[in-house]
Amino acid sequence: MSINMSHSDPVRPRIKKLLLRLTILLVVFVISTAAVVLTMHSASLALTEDSQEHLLPAIHEHQRAAINLERLERMGDLVLYGGNVTLIRKNALAAQVLAFQPSFHFSPVAKETVRAAFELLREVRRTRQILLSSQFERLSDIEQRNLLLLDKSLQVRWSEYKQELFELQNKIISDATSLQEKNMQQITATNNMILVVAGTGMSLLLVVIVIIGYSLYKHLITPVTEASKALLALEQGKAFSPAPARYQELNNIHQAVANLSTTLNKLHTMATRDSLTGCANRGYFMELAQKALSKVHRQNLQMAIVMLDIDHFKKVNDQYGHAVGDDTLQLTTKWIQASLPENAIIGRLGGEEFALILPEMNAQQAVNFSESIRKKIAENSSDSSTVPAITVSLGVQVVREPTDEIDTLLSQADKALYEAKTGGRNRVILSKESNAKESEESPQNEKTTQ
Ligand code: GH3
Ligand code: MG
Ligand code: MG
Repeated sequence: MSINMSHSDPVRPRIKKLLLRLTILLVVFVISTAAVVLTMHSASLALTEDSQEHLLPAIHEHQRAAINLERLERMGDLVLYGGNVTLIRKNALAAQVLAFQPSFHFSPVAKETVRAAFELLREVRRTRQILLSSQFERLSDIEQRNLLLLDKSLQVRWSEYKQELFELQNKIISDATSLQEKNMQQITATNNMILVVAGTGMSLLLVVIVIIGYSLYKHLITPVTEASKALLALEQGKAFSPAPARYQELNNIHQAVANLSTTLNKLHTMATRDSLTGCANRGYFMELAQKALSKVHRQNLQMAIVMLDIDHFKKVNDQYGHAVGDDTLQLTTKWIQASLPENAIIGRLGGEEFALILPEMNAQQAVNFSESIRKKIAENSSDSSTVPAITVSLGVQVVREPTDEIDTLLSQADKALYEAKTGGRNRVILSKESNAKESEESPQNEKTTQ
């Protein structure tokens, strides 16, 4: 009756391994995610740096250059149409500063345009200085006319340069816009990259969660649920064989439950069955009889109780020995059991005394059945080569009132049995109470058979 707890299967993994694997999976995922996040962060930093170090300064430089060109145009206009010499000189000086802003890298062509425009302004300044000073009066008519013509042609040339400067300014503004667009594209690219990585990370996390959840469900939760069902079945005395678990610890639980179930079954048999004959012992018989009687009362059914005792059994022991006595008890039980209806119950109340519960039988039927048993035992034993010829006495009692109790019914059956003994044995006696009832229902004589 010992429980076999050694279920060591060396190839079966232990549940610690499952948890280790899941932990490794999580750690690998976290490390990979951290690596991806770091890479993404440095890429995003590089883009930001590129933007801050190159693009933004370039954009600002373009904007400043465009503004300066516009100022240069304005200064040029003021030099040409500004009036007095002081104003012309002042504006020409400002134009010089603006024209040669060192910070901006104009293309050689643009540089040449700016330089030529400034040179023109200087020439205008020089011409205007003469035109506006007293020196002009001292010049000959031809010189004066030439100077005025020069001034006019300079004005025309300035309009042309102004147009060129304007186009250059437009070009710079358009370049600045392209740079801004590039900057925006970089920002959008960084944002998209963050979105893609975050999306991939979330999807992977979902996959990892699903894998971990599935593993825990399959290898931990399901076997634990199975073990719980098995324990519940064990408690209720029902049969349940859990599916084999993959991990050793859970498998141990399943096997232990299975072993406990077997042990409990054995214990239950030991507690409820008579070891010699296999029929219900006194305690269990009383429990079953009580249940049967409750049903009879509830559903208003019929039921008979029979007490059976082997006649002069002591002599069997004395004459043939205890072993033959045991064989006789076993065979007698077998013969009775072979005749019992399906829902009948047999119990060994002690020694060579048995009790029968015969549901759905009235007094007449129970007497007839008892009689058939008496005859069968007598015949079978006299035919037997292993046991001596024996006879049995039987007392019959039926349920009559809905208040009848099992102890009372048994003791009344026992009284009838006693009557059978005192009346000469080897007979069936219906109890007085049952007899009275039987007479009420179908007036006949007292039932005694032999
Ligand atoms: P009666 O006809 O009045 O019933 O007489 P009896 O001899 O059958 O009754 P009694 O009660 O005097 O003796 C019963 C005997 O049954 C006594 C006991 O030794 C024997 N007995 C009880 N249990 C067992 C058992 O398990 N095996 C064997 N071999 N004998 C048993
Ligand atoms: Mg006896
Ligand atoms: Mg007896």
